[in-house]
Amino acid sequence: MTDSQTIKPLYSPTKQAFLQLEKTLYANLHESVVNESPVECISISPRSAKAWQVKAGQICRIVADKGPQVVDVNFWNLHNPRERFWASRTRQLYGAHINTYDQLWSVLPYLRPMLTVTHDTINYGLDSDGAGCHDLLGTRCDPYIHQMLTEEALDTCCHSNLTRAVLPYHLDERDVHDVINIFQVTGLTKETEQYFVKPCPAQAGDYWEFFAEQDLLCAASACPHGDMSLPIWGDSAVDTADICRSIEIQIFNPDRTLLKSWREPEPAGYAGIHGLQASTEK
Ligand SMILES: [Zn+2]
Repeated sequence: MTDSQTIKPLYSPTKQAFLQLEKTLYANLHESVVNESPVECISISPRSAKAWQVKAGQICRIVADKGPQVVDVNFWNLHNPRERFWASRTRQLYGAHINTYDQLWSVLPYLRPMLTVTHDTINYGLDSDGAGCHDLLGTRCDPYIHQMLTEEALDTCCHSNLTRAVLPYHLDERDVHDVINIFQVTGLTKETEQYFVKPCPAQAGDYWEFFAEQDLLCAASACPHGDMSLPIWGDSAVDTADICRSIEIQIFNPDRTLLKSWREPEPAGYAGIHGLQASTEK
């Protein structure tokens, strides 16, 4: 076995500029909207989802306006839904739980930051069980696994909520992808490395805020399992309707003068040849 002292993150850059962020810019962007009113507010009812747009250069907050509630969120490039959030690569780059100044990256062949987290009022860190908040370990709840576990057909799972939310954008359930679970505390059990959740730590008014690095289509589902404080599946499962709350989305226009040196990230530099040229030459 490898000595734990020698274990290091795998995805380490040769060029030191990789993943280094100008944190002052993002801190200032956050500060510029702290005392501002949102230019748009969207309310998401319990056990439902909505889709909305955030333009590059805007700031968006996901607010637990009524108290603890986990939120399953998807992101696409507004103009090209093939470019969408890549949860597993983002997890490899930053960790299983997302913190302020981490970025959410898009899938291949684009592989660029879609957004940057500018503020997080939860600031959970890692607890004694190794659990953290804003989860990239899991994914959305879905009606297929729910029916396998319970024999119940539940149409308000996050997968279905997100599917209904994106239909007006001519997307369907095949476009719904692995989510970031905002306000959800998760970890892996020490003995068997199995996924667990803890009750949501959000208080009314807590929020997770991001800066859009490109024009985004976003969709968020107020999970039908609410604040995760009651057992959902297994022998002790109970109805979780009473622990479900609404979510509010707020969009802000930050101080544009802060964005003079900011540029939308370019797709990754690899040309996408995949060795095809070499095989034709043989
Ligand atoms: Zn859910």
